[in-house]
Amino acid sequence: MVEGGGASPEVGRDRRYRRARGELASTLTPARSAHSSLTPPSLGVSAQGRTGSRAGARKTPQAGGVRWLSRRDVVIDHADVVIIGGGATGIGLLWDLSLRGLDVILLEQAGLAAGTSGAFHGLLHSGMRYAGTDRRTAAECLEENALLKKVAGPFVKDTGGVFCRLDDDDPGWERRWLDGCREVGLRPKPFARNSLLSAEPSLSARIVSAYAVPDAAIDGFGLLWSLVWSSAAAGARVYFRARVTGFLTDDAGVRGVTVVGLGGTEEEALQSAPAFPAGTPGPAPEPGAAFGEVTAPVVVNATGPWARETAALAGSAAASAVPVEQDKGVMLVFNARLVSRVVNRLRPPADGDIFVPHGPVTILGTSSGLVRGDERPAATPEEVCLVFEQGQALVPGLGLAAPLRAYAGVRPLLRACGSGGEPGRRGGRGFLLVDHGEAGGAAGLVTVAGGKFTTFRAMAQAAGDLVCRLLGKNVPGRTAEVGIPRLRRHPAGTRYAGEPAAGGRGRTGSERDSSRARPARLDGALACDCELVDLAHAMSLLDEGLGLADLRRLLRVGMGGCQGVFCSPRLAGVLWQAGWPGSRQRPRPDGPAILAETASFEQARMAGMKSTQWGAQARLAALAEAFDELTLGEDSRAGPHAGVTKQ
Ligand SMILES: Cc1cc2nc3c(=O)[nH]c(=O)nc-3n(C[C@H](O)[C@H](O)[C@H](O)COP(=O)(O)OP(=O)(O)OC[C@H]3O[C@@H](n4cnc5c(N)ncnc54)[C@H](O)[C@@H]3O)c2cc1C
Repeated sequence: MVEGGGASPEVGRDRRYRRARGELASTLTPARSAHSSLTPPSLGVSAQGRTGSRAGARKTPQAGGVRWLSRRDVVIDHADVVIIGGGATGIGLLWDLSLRGLDVILLEQAGLAAGTSGAFHGLLHSGMRYAGTDRRTAAECLEENALLKKVAGPFVKDTGGVFCRLDDDDPGWERRWLDGCREVGLRPKPFARNSLLSAEPSLSARIVSAYAVPDAAIDGFGLLWSLVWSSAAAGARVYFRARVTGFLTDDAGVRGVTVVGLGGTEEEALQSAPAFPAGTPGPAPEPGAAFGEVTAPVVVNATGPWARETAALAGSAAASAVPVEQDKGVMLVFNARLVSRVVNRLRPPADGDIFVPHGPVTILGTSSGLVRGDERPAATPEEVCLVFEQGQALVPGLGLAAPLRAYAGVRPLLRACGSGGEPGRRGGRGFLLVDHGEAGGAAGLVTVAGGKFTTFRAMAQAAGDLVCRLLGKNVPGRTAEVGIPRLRRHPAGTRYAGEPAAGGRGRTGSERDSSRARPARLDGALACDCELVDLAHAMSLLDEGLGLADLRRLLRVGMGGCQGVFCSPRLAGVLWQAGWPGSRQRPRPDGPAILAETASFEQARMAGMKSTQWGAQARLAALAEAFDELTLGEDSRAGPHAGVTKQ
């Protein structure tokens, strides 16, 4: 639950909050001195009737839902388990624990899959890529590949895959790779060279041998949104723009977290988050406001590449139990389906050696290089050139395709395992599960990190088993049996009780009454021509409280050939005409809020275009810049496209 809404006065809310806290006995102390002035509520005692309870104590029923926090919101909540991090690992665990019937809260500092899980290659690995280097991960991927094709079928495009050796690749590696495959029960089928070249005419004639493998493409955004909504329907609470700043502890260990609402657009939240030095709590509440507190007997750190920094908030012993390195990878998106199946180069894992077809585009990746936790990953021109040049060996006509954009993600790699135990590409792809109580650190804190998107379900199941053991519950996991439906529309009943229904985020009654009616010409119109997205459908999701970044994830708005050049100004215009109320932080239907949301959406799209300015793409960027000036006005000169073409 969140105290106060976007529209009520901040001071009144804060006073209520302080009064509620003052009436409670304090049994907890925040782990970090930065929060030592807090007197958090004791567990099992209701704060304004809003908190839940520890196992066995009185429990207030909670409504499940998804909520985006403003800078003024103060969360006071309690559950069986708190999960930090809304990527594949955290959301997978949310689903696992919800299916086991536990009361769960997830806190994510930005938006859905805003970290690595929103910037990956989209490959459901068969495991064969790791057959020559990391056989345990290879076996895990093989098992999960088969399982996810069953339970997450609507999100998997079973394209199949192929490994190809070029004439100058080491034949010794092919033998080692085949041995590795056999050892873990993988059976790559030889693919006749000529059949392959007629099935995939864009591939190089320099291919000397090839093997078919069960690789596939996976829609990570669609899958994770469905898991969030399904979990919310089962009672889970998900808070976005909710940055965890420290741990609450008592004599027995960790008993909850302190939280700050970051507010703003997703782009603003993402830009501000990495600016906090690694291992420090991050932002303070607004002047006069307070930290939120979410308590639970078990807290799970599922912050992926930032897992070590998050553990450090509980002390240096907890941090040293989490040997996670951050390894950046860069990917290039091309505007055509260059291949119809996943194509891998048969050589030791290296740069630019995998093509994954996704809908009308193809993604080429990736590179590898260690980075620091407080850097926001971005694709540099050097990395883009490296990936492009390497990719040309497999697809010689690559230079004729238009590169739509480049993007970067950060792998959570394990330093202490994998072949050689070295960071970077030779670091471990396996996953880490730490019970910090046993590791000599903070009891009640669990860390789950590393792994692959492909293995997120297995990671969640292992973490779920550990959480149940710590809670003294004997409930088996069910994620291997329960199918995940594709939710095309926001299901009714998953928003918070008290949230506005269709009509917008956080509007008051009078604002709702005065809102303008939808223009009739919305019917049948398109929001995005490239991806054929129905405008009325897009508007209905915005009415439910989602932002433009969510439309991109759910409906692929702005992900097609024009990369948002035409659809973002169109959406801005329609939002204004239709009376969209703007974000919860700016509850009035004002132009600046709509422009901020639109600019944030374009900024995310255009950040990736900056390093792919050649050929047709350079012309598209020039068009985007001119379009901004025409549609968004003078201010656009300082906006996201400004200067793109001059680079
Ligand atoms: C370039 C690249 C390509 C890849 N391709 C593939 C692939 O094709 N197939 C595959 O299977 N795997 C792939 N992977 C690996 C896979 O993407 C990751 O292993 C997986 O997405 C990690 O998920 P996660 O939830 O652990 O981390 P993340 O997705 O990064 O989630 C962690 C979340 O924690 C949040 N967070 C951090 N600190 C806080 C805080 N203090 N408070 C609140 N929230 C916080 C972050 O905002 C973030 O959203 C790839 C990785 C990279 C880098």
